Amino acid sequence: LAKADGRNCTRFFEPALGREIEARLGMSNQLRRALAERELYLVYQPQYSLSTHQLTGIEALVRWRDAHGHLYMPSEFIPIAEQHGLIGRLGEYVLNEALAQLAAWRAASLPLVAVSVNVAPQQFASGDFVSTVLECLARHQIEPHWLELEITENSLVQNASRTLAQLQTLRSYGIRIAIDDFGTGYSSLSYLDTYEIDRLKIDRSFVSELETRTSRAGIVRGVIMLAKGLGYGVVAEGVETTGQLAMLRASGCGYAQGYLFSKPLLPDQIVPLLRAPFRSPAGTTASSEAPE
Ligand code: C2E
Ligand code: MG
Ligand code: MG
Ligand code: MG
Repeated sequence: LAKADGRNCTRFFEPALGREIEARLGMSNQLRRALAERELYLVYQPQYSLSTHQLTGIEALVRWRDAHGHLYMPSEFIPIAEQHGLIGRLGEYVLNEALAQLAAWRAASLPLVAVSVNVAPQQFASGDFVSTVLECLARHQIEPHWLELEITENSLVQNASRTLAQLQTLRSYGIRIAIDDFGTGYSSLSYLDTYEIDRLKIDRSFVSELETRTSRAGIVRGVIMLAKGLGYGVVAEGVETTGQLAMLRASGCGYAQGYLFSKPLLPDQIVPLLRAPFRSPAGTTASSEAPE
């Protein structure tokens, strides 16, 4: 840089150059700094029961707005966190924020709903994951049944015996376990009744083609039947149309989340939903603009 721009050293003091240097440091360093500076925050997407039309939970989804106001989505920085050994810290940060939020709502005398937190395979594989979770619950005095951990099929496949032990321990405390993005990973069906889990989340890629591909509708119906046979709940993710919703309901799907109901919301936007957790059966809740 100094060589290329040697003729004009004053450039070193321009803010644009600051950004350039920052970019060179790499996103992983920025992310490390962002964690320390608390630039990461959570939005929450409502989940509804399809039988009672009640808000039954919210999924915490992480966002990163940097000092320049740029918003990064998880697909941009979760892989970087995973590659640079930051996913453990990021995961703890998210868990802590989510439980602190529940504690804040409780302190404000609001009714609580369960919060679902995404857990990366590496996080889950780390030896102290269970104690991290239990400590965080204790710190915020949140009972374990308010927490659902969303793990992926790939978490199940890695290190099967330790995974089994961890899931048993977590569930023995009353923490709930959901398999996220079900149908897109590498697990075999035999894993499904080996592990102790509570819910399957049908991946959006199946839901989005429900109305256009008959074969997909068959898969979704099959997964719902499978889950019911095993005694698991089913959450459909990425529900965007009333047609999809009708098909899911007709197939006996228990829960759904998606833009049809709500985009992920800031905590303040969740508060009215906690106060009035029922939505009208036919329509959607008053649709709000994405907060992001
Ligand atoms: P996911 O856990 O499957 O989360 C659902 C994603 O689908 C979210 O994207 C959500 O905003 C989006 N979504 C929800 N409803 C709809 C819909 O109706 N239509 C469409 N097109 N999209 C919908 P987001 O927030 O970008 O997160 C993407 C993925 O990043 C998540 O997928 C999850 O795997 C990961 N992620 C997010 N937050 C965290 C976190 O705190 N920790 C970890 N390890 N991963 C996270
Ligand atoms: Mg998820
Ligand atoms: Mg998912
Ligand atoms: Mg998904």
